[in-house]
Amino acid sequence: MTAFALGLLGLVLSLVVPAPLARARWAAATPRASVVLWQAVVAASVLSAVAVVLIAPEEISGALSAGPTAAAWGLSAALAVALLIVTRLVVSLVGVMRRSAARRARHRALLDLLDDAERSAALASDLTADQRQLRVLGAPLPLAYGLPGRSPRVVVTDGALRLLDTEQLRAVLAHEQAHLDARHDVVLESFAAFHRAVPRPLRNDRALGAVELLLEAAADDAARRRCGGAGPLRSALELLGGAVDPGVGALAAADTEAHRAPDDDALAAQRALRLARLAAAPTARWRSVGVCALAAGVLVLPPVVLVAPWLTDALSRLPLP
Ligand SMILES: [Zn+2]
Repeated sequence: MTAFALGLLGLVLSLVVPAPLARARWAAATPRASVVLWQAVVAASVLSAVAVVLIAPEEISGALSAGPTAAAWGLSAALAVALLIVTRLVVSLVGVMRRSAARRARHRALLDLLDDAERSAALASDLTADQRQLRVLGAPLPLAYGLPGRSPRVVVTDGALRLLDTEQLRAVLAHEQAHLDARHDVVLESFAAFHRAVPRPLRNDRALGAVELLLEAAADDAARRRCGGAGPLRSALELLGGAVDPGVGALAAADTEAHRAPDDDALAAQRALRLARLAAAPTARWRSVGVCALAAGVLVLPPVVLVAPWLTDALSRLPLP
């Protein structure tokens, strides 16, 4: 019955755990570690499904030796669902990566074409930023975002340059650079792929929104560290708040087919939480260490407790040479 237990574990991790985890205040206080915890939850769900695919056939044949029992039917259903999730995950991951690469290449070509090269060079020089990445667009909409990929870009519009002073601009660009450096796009895309792979009745929609918020908070923390304080980023967020959130662009560049852009209410709630975090003192490091330890437990304990006895039993039945 190991396959049943693993199927149940996968169900709990993908359907039950996301809601309390998305609500947890301690998760928002430790964003980087909490993203690791979310990744551990998703990885444990996927590993559970893979383990069901590997273990269930043997248990089904054992159950069928006594005739077509309820246990055999139940195991067959668990195997079918697990196989569906694993197959859809592989297809979804390949599809997301191919579409994202193509969309970003087009977006990057357009940015390079529309860039005001003189102003980009002057701004990069003023901010001691990487000129190869920085692009200035002559648009009135106040907007700053990062375009991820192997050749990333950090984009800022005329509208944003008019609103922000040098320190605020430096903080906003540091926030976008943090998204690019930590490859938050890959994190978000893998969550989007998993979200789409799980059949709708077994899926919890809160995970993606929660991870988005944590990635924004993690980029805020990085910008705070890089700029020596939260003041400039906080005031920039307040200035841009009524127009466009500086973080939205980086996330909107992720797989939009799997995930709609957050609506105005969600953006307002996200901005309020980010402003509250930036007004508070940085979180103590030991709390992040605790959350990482929890992530390690989520990832390691289920295989040890559930799969190790099955593996030991299977090995003991192998004919010795
Ligand atoms: Zn952001």
